[in-house]
Amino acid sequence: MARALLKKYPELSESDLAFHLVEASGRILPEFTDQPGEWVVRMLERRGASVHLNCTMTSADDGHVVLSDGTEFDSELIVWTAGNAATRLLRNHTDLPHNARGLVQVRADLRIGTETEIVPGAWAAGDDAAVPDLTSSSPGAYTVPNAQNAVRQGKLLAKNLLRSLRGREPKPYVHHSLSAIATLGLGTGIFQYRRIVIKGLPAWLMHRGYHVLAVPTWDRKVRVLAIWLASFFYGRDIVSLASVQSPREAFEAEARTAALSAKRTST
Ligand SMILES: Cc1cc2nc3c(=O)[nH]c(=O)nc-3n(C[C@H](O)[C@H](O)[C@H](O)COP(=O)(O)OP(=O)(O)OC[C@H]3O[C@@H](n4cnc5c(N)ncnc54)[C@H](O)[C@@H]3O)c2cc1C
Repeated sequence: MARALLKKYPELSESDLAFHLVEASGRILPEFTDQPGEWVVRMLERRGASVHLNCTMTSADDGHVVLSDGTEFDSELIVWTAGNAATRLLRNHTDLPHNARGLVQVRADLRIGTETEIVPGAWAAGDDAAVPDLTSSSPGAYTVPNAQNAVRQGKLLAKNLLRSLRGREPKPYVHHSLSAIATLGLGTGIFQYRRIVIKGLPAWLMHRGYHVLAVPTWDRKVRVLAIWLASFFYGRDIVSLASVQSPREAFEAEARTAALSAKRTST
């Protein structure tokens, strides 16, 4: 994306670009096994990124980044992607049971509560719910907060609500991850199912295909597909972050220019 943007900013060149990926653990993409994970790191490095593993950000004063391994660099843009947090609403404004991370404690059948104590008439699913992962071999594991689980849990929750209204027992949430897939920029990606690993363009196409199928309702599928097709023909739809952060600036600059030219005309 950054290289595509350069075409629209002739005052910038590729030498002005630098990307640092800082990761606290020893590997990226934990859903993949070691070898595909290492391939991704090598691929990103080949494309000019610096990958800092086993490393955290110590400070970022005035855009000057200092890493725990002593590396220092200046950055114009810092993207923080270190995990997600539960909404404080649950912890501060409800008396629902929650775990240490603030996620609402649910049973495998998505009723709020523990194995022994149920909060009557209260259900939860998705990112804000600590849903026991019955497929995991590690005890006390929760399902991963992603759309794959959230959408499936939402459907099960609706069915379980109906069951309980009809006096039947709700069913537990059990979902075995089918495979792992990720895109790594435009036209390249990685897919893994057990020992089968697919890399590059085929994996990227599989990712796009899977996601358009996973988007709920045909209306949304068609809209998303139409945007992708438009981007294919016309390139990415870009917007300057500066104009998002200070939207008045463009108007003020224009007003200054107009005032200046009006003054020149009158003199
Ligand atoms: C950048 C990004 C990329 C992602 N990519 C993937 C991916 O490729 N694959 C994948 O599986 N998952 C992905 N995820 C994760 C996925 O989006 C979430 O796991 C999923 O959306 C969780 O669904 P949810 O319904 O639990 O929560 P959400 O989708 O977050 O929905 C919660 C809703 O509640 C609303 N809300 C919040 N507070 C209140 C309130 N007080 N009153 C009323 N409404 C409220 C919010 O506005 C929101 O609409 C991604 C997430 C992000 C941020």
